[in-house]
Amino acid sequence: MEYALVTGGSRGIGRAICLRLAEMGFPVLINYAHNEAAALETQKMVEDKGGKAELLPFDVSDVGAIEKALEQWQDRHTEDFVSVLVNNAGIRQDTMMIFMQNEQWNDVLKTSLDGFFYVTRYLLKGMIMHRKGRIINMVSLSGIKGLPGQVNYSAAKAALIGATKALAQEIASRKITVNAVAPGFIATDMTKDLDEDSLKKMIPVGRFGQPEEVAALVGFLASPQSAYITGEVISINGGLYT
Ligand code: NAP
Repeated sequence: MEYALVTGGSRGIGRAICLRLAEMGFPVLINYAHNEAAALETQKMVEDKGGKAELLPFDVSDVGAIEKALEQWQDRHTEDFVSVLVNNAGIRQDTMMIFMQNEQWNDVLKTSLDGFFYVTRYLLKGMIMHRKGRIINMVSLSGIKGLPGQVNYSAAKAALIGATKALAQEIASRKITVNAVAPGFIATDMTKDLDEDSLKKMIPVGRFGQPEEVAALVGFLASPQSAYITGEVISINGGLYT
């Protein structure tokens, strides 16, 4: 059976993606770092809609934890493989660069960029063997335009865009696509401390986006209909930056 793995699937955009992929018929592996209660709620939401979901906790920045969790999963699922991987886990640690601490730089890079590398490298083998796969990386407007106060986050997401384009070319002949989705402001825990009323004045559509709107795009990129799209960065930002 083909599974979908969503890193950071417990909350926000990741939760909406889990629901969308389950609606499309994928059994979903919900990864998270700490928040088991939120992950269980996502699992229940998937199951209430008639889908299947398993929790798969690990810290995406910890190569040992990732390999242990994925090996144990594979031992329990000898006939199955992950055909859809959504590298969605990410964190913000915003501050002006002059004040940025080593940990703030390292933690943000490790979560978005190392997380992509370790998880994808492990799962690539199965996709290549089955000559089938969809890899979708959650980047950001910040990685395209650069945003002040986010030198760490912009660097992580821009690097992930480069990795998306390079990997897409490496494995296109194996029928595996690799794309990036670049949201603007989406209403989740990550943006709840922002001043939505003043920020939305800059957004042509006039509001923050919803996680379900991002999930619909990810669902399309995970579908057979997107087979000829690879190495792309698709913005979803209400016209904020084109
Ligand atoms: P969120 O609501 O803060 O949720 C973050 C998710 O990532 C949670 O499920 C969290 O797990 C997980 N996570 C964080 N660190 C992790 C780690 N080391 N290992 C495993 N999981 C980890 O964030 P969101 O707004 O949904 O953002 C999702 C993605 O979209 C991120 O990559 C973010 O950079 C990107 N993005 C968001 C926006 C936006 O406006 N919201 C805009 C552009 C891009 P726990 O529940 O266990 O903490």
